[in-house]
Amino acid sequence: MCGIVGYIGQRKAYPILIKGLQRLEYRGYDSAGVALIDEQQHLNVYKAKGKVADLEAYCEGKDTGGSVGIAHTRWATHGEPSSQNAHPHYSASGRLALIHNGIIENYATLKENLVARGIAFRSVTDSEVLVQLVEYIMVSNGLELYEAVQVALRQVIGAYAIAILDREHPSQIVCARQSSPLVVGLGAEGDFYLASDASPIAEYTDRVVYLNDGDIALLRLGDELHVVNLSGEARHPKVKQIDVTLGQLEKGGYPYFMLKEIFEQPACLRDCMRGRINVDADRITLSAVIDYRDKLVAARRVIIVACGTSWHAGLIGKQLIESLCRIPVEVEYASEFRYRDPVIYPDDVVIAISQSGETADTLAAIEQARSAGAFVFGICNAIGASIPRQTQTGVYIHVGPEIGVASTKAFTGQVTVLCMLALTLANERRTIAGDVYKEMVAELVRIPEKMELALKANEQIERLAPIFTYAHNCLYLGRGYNYPVALEGALKLKEISYIHAEGYPAAEMKHGPIALIDSEMPVFVIATRDKLYDKVVSNIEEVRARGGRVVALVTEGDTQMAKLADHIICLPDTMECFQPLIASIPLQLLAYHIAVCKGKDVDRPRNLAKSVTVE
Ligand code: GLU
Repeated sequence: MCGIVGYIGQRKAYPILIKGLQRLEYRGYDSAGVALIDEQQHLNVYKAKGKVADLEAYCEGKDTGGSVGIAHTRWATHGEPSSQNAHPHYSASGRLALIHNGIIENYATLKENLVARGIAFRSVTDSEVLVQLVEYIMVSNGLELYEAVQVALRQVIGAYAIAILDREHPSQIVCARQSSPLVVGLGAEGDFYLASDASPIAEYTDRVVYLNDGDIALLRLGDELHVVNLSGEARHPKVKQIDVTLGQLEKGGYPYFMLKEIFEQPACLRDCMRGRINVDADRITLSAVIDYRDKLVAARRVIIVACGTSWHAGLIGKQLIESLCRIPVEVEYASEFRYRDPVIYPDDVVIAISQSGETADTLAAIEQARSAGAFVFGICNAIGASIPRQTQTGVYIHVGPEIGVASTKAFTGQVTVLCMLALTLANERRTIAGDVYKEMVAELVRIPEKMELALKANEQIERLAPIFTYAHNCLYLGRGYNYPVALEGALKLKEISYIHAEGYPAAEMKHGPIALIDSEMPVFVIATRDKLYDKVVSNIEEVRARGGRVVALVTEGDTQMAKLADHIICLPDTMECFQPLIASIPLQLLAYHIAVCKGKDVDRPRNLAKSVTVE
């Protein structure tokens, strides 16, 4: 969600900042802005509502000189998207400019105090309070920026990643983080890069420092990186190597990142399993399980906390863990869990799932679980993000950076990790027979190949998509393991085509949604050959009897369904519990092609953010 970029060095800052903002566009935003200090020590701020391209158009012909700057994409929380409310914000005297991601919860009180001291505000954002507070402290206490920020942040409650420029000291950037991500890149010549994640930094340096909560950093040209905590105590920053390649950040010939990411899934799942399932494909080794075997094997209950697509992956994880490991599992929306005073026991294992590893609600749920003494296990994609750092152990899904806002490969990566985890625990707990375990591991290894077959339906789905662009409502039905697939299919369609869609357990339809069915209502049914197949057939009959139009996802060779459904999409056969990995593919493609037919911006759907760092 929203993004921060900064640069200080010998090169012209503006192009680096714009490119950095473009790399962060996937996170979702509604306006953008940049601040630069030019050679004459002017602090220039340019902002525009809309996309980074709108900001570039606005900057044309203006002074974009200078080799120090900060830039921002805003996802409005306080105040409408407008150039006035966009960041950077000037301080009252115009000496400082600040960008902020997150929410300042006590901004109203802080603002009231500053207004009472005669400080005028130019925007209605919560963020502006920070820059006014910092300048007020600098002026009234005679402090430099770095010290003033430390004093100011002690008064601030909320989530923030901030960066500030001071035109009186053009060779420095001060930045800080609390619950919002911030990464500093260390250049070879005493230059610094700053960003919300490593993607804007990767092409310049592979040496980065992930700031921790409470860190305040001084980036001074030619100097080493200085980091202190809120009490002013120095911390020695740990330098890490990043391994994101540029190719992973480009579209690679596809019109949209989302389509690239859908097609990447077989390769991504091979990466996800590499080094974890051995070459003979008969054993899974997860270091997280080896290190914490006793804790995990002894779990009396598993609680999965997640949001959005990750929550759907969690619903599949529940079925896997319950059926294979015989451990009861609850799946919770992190946002509900954190405020509900849930019952948590010390022998509970809490699994937190998040693609970005920065989801604010999931982080809060982790904190709650840890303080109740539960063991917390993370499943994330972004290396070095907050969730992997705040959980006792976990497994990375290793599917590479996901740029499209609507999650595809991260979802199947999460499900794959849950499959590996459930199988490993089942084997350790002896709740699965040895030969069944081996058979299942071997089948899991074959899934990427089967996904490649499922992807062959792309052209058929592309041809089918225009039929459904008229729809205002769609229903997605599935049972058992395919019920979460139905939920996820509906979510994908909503997210990128803005068509209202509901996912339902197929049998539950007759308890309400059946009232909606008429000839205008497309119904997508996952009807693969499994133990509930005949039941699903009856559910389809019920839809047909009311004139509904049925698209059925079926196992190849199914002749019965061809007569029943208006359209069928064939899928390769697999074990029931791995079916979600295959069945999700046509639903992702369907959502994608319908959205493209409707002319929507597939990678950056309106109102959505990739990494939801606000609650
Ligand atoms: N809360 C701030 C605003 O509404 C920052 C939002 C963001 O993270 O972009 O301006």
